[in-house]
Amino acid sequence: MTEPAFEPVIGLEIHAQLLTDTKIFCGCSTRFGAAPNAHVCPVCLGLPGALPVLNRRAVELGIRAALALGCTVQARSVFARKNYFYPDLPKGYQISQYEHPLATGGEVRYAQDDGDHAVRIIRAHLEEDAGKSLHAGGGDHTHLDFNRSGVPLIEIVTHPDLRSPSEAAVFFTRLRGILTTVGVNDGNMEEGSLRCDANVSIRPAGETALGVKVEVKNLNSFRYLQRALEYEIDRQTETVRAGRQVEQETRLWDTAASRTVSMRSKEDAHDYRYFPEPDLPPVEVSEAWVAEVRSALPELPEARKQRLAREYGLSDGEAAQLADSDASTRYFEAAAAASGNARVAANWVMGEVARRLNADGDDIDSVGVSPDALGRLIRLVDAGAVSGSAAKTVFERMYGTGREAGEIVEAEGLAQIGDEERLLEVVTRVIADNDDAVSRFRGGNQGSLGFLVGQVMRATGGRANPKLVNALLRRSLSGGP
Ligand code: ADP
Ligand code: MG
Ligand code: ZN
Repeated sequence: MTEPAFEPVIGLEIHAQLLTDTKIFCGCSTRFGAAPNAHVCPVCLGLPGALPVLNRRAVELGIRAALALGCTVQARSVFARKNYFYPDLPKGYQISQYEHPLATGGEVRYAQDDGDHAVRIIRAHLEEDAGKSLHAGGGDHTHLDFNRSGVPLIEIVTHPDLRSPSEAAVFFTRLRGILTTVGVNDGNMEEGSLRCDANVSIRPAGETALGVKVEVKNLNSFRYLQRALEYEIDRQTETVRAGRQVEQETRLWDTAASRTVSMRSKEDAHDYRYFPEPDLPPVEVSEAWVAEVRSALPELPEARKQRLAREYGLSDGEAAQLADSDASTRYFEAAAAASGNARVAANWVMGEVARRLNADGDDIDSVGVSPDALGRLIRLVDAGAVSGSAAKTVFERMYGTGREAGEIVEAEGLAQIGDEERLLEVVTRVIADNDDAVSRFRGGNQGSLGFLVGQVMRATGGRANPKLVNALLRRSLSGGP
């Protein structure tokens, strides 16, 4: 009997911390890493009688995020109390938006090697974060840190438009790219500034109705998102194949055990008893404000990628890599301009520059060679003053030292050898020392010419002009034994 194939259906709820200096309803600092409970006041501790006052900057960043996701910002949105009890929620309710969110109905589109993708956004709303429970003493007591309490978040809810764990992970990286590019979020998932809840169900291939979904809470890395979804899809598929039904529930990703575990089932689902927050007026956003925020939006990653591909003649994959962040785009474009050779500049940025950054565990913000300096090195190569392989040595010497390419070439004798007489000497020696390769070449094996070129390059420390070496070798070898 053939088993029916199942199709996964995935929708994400993403929480992103808005980059304000102060919390959403009080003046406490949002800075990460302070001593526990260093940034608290009666408002964010939820003391009776303390009144929230909305942070205008949080609304502005929320509008910016919403516009970057193609959402429609609502002229009027309303804060509500979402009531539940939890130790890290001292008020007994979270202030969030429910019936009337800040923004609705957007879409994120992006191109991939496997085709074009579009993920629709249902809504984006503002809310406050809760505090943090720190379990200690092997689980026998818990500490509470309220520094996070009242930090502004935007929650972004997608339609269930994603169809595989890897697609979900890629979408999440795209979303992160958008939010960081427009400067509303720092993208720091380790510190919890960006996290996501993944909703997933399966259905028989070809079915259009949605299956029963499971929500996996609080995934704070692309990898965990993907692995939790893979695990959950397998678990649901096995459940259905065993003739049982998937239960609607909320689960957690257990990193150590690499599996999802049940947190609560539908039976104990919360009734949050939402009602409008009486201490805050509705949020009014004028068209003029929306227009002002829109006009200040920077180029978004997907548009930037397409522009790089078009303007510099790069492949889709290359453009995507260079458009990965603001900083890498800026670096590449500056190097392309300084070198007058975008093609080669792209190779350097994706090659040596990326390799060095990787090796050092650095990112392009702290790169050790300025794009202008790299541009001048590329010009030396293009002018024939340095060979491509010697240029890599020059680059290493430049890195982090502030030294100039031209100066290094001169001081370290790295100039390209384009002197025919000098090279001919080396070529003659290499031919004499490599009988085997020489006879193979004469026997018609073109590949052994590459070997001989390599020997000449090696003998000159990579400084020989490869074109000239090629020509000299061919000439010498065709001259008979
Ligand atoms: P809830 O009321 O349980 O919060 P929502 O309808 O608000 O559910 O949807 C929450 C998230 O779950 C959204 O991202 C949505 O796309 C996703 N979702 C809803 N139904 C399904 C389903 N059957 N399978 C997968 N994801 C779903
Ligand atoms: Mg929901
Ligand atoms: Zn406070």
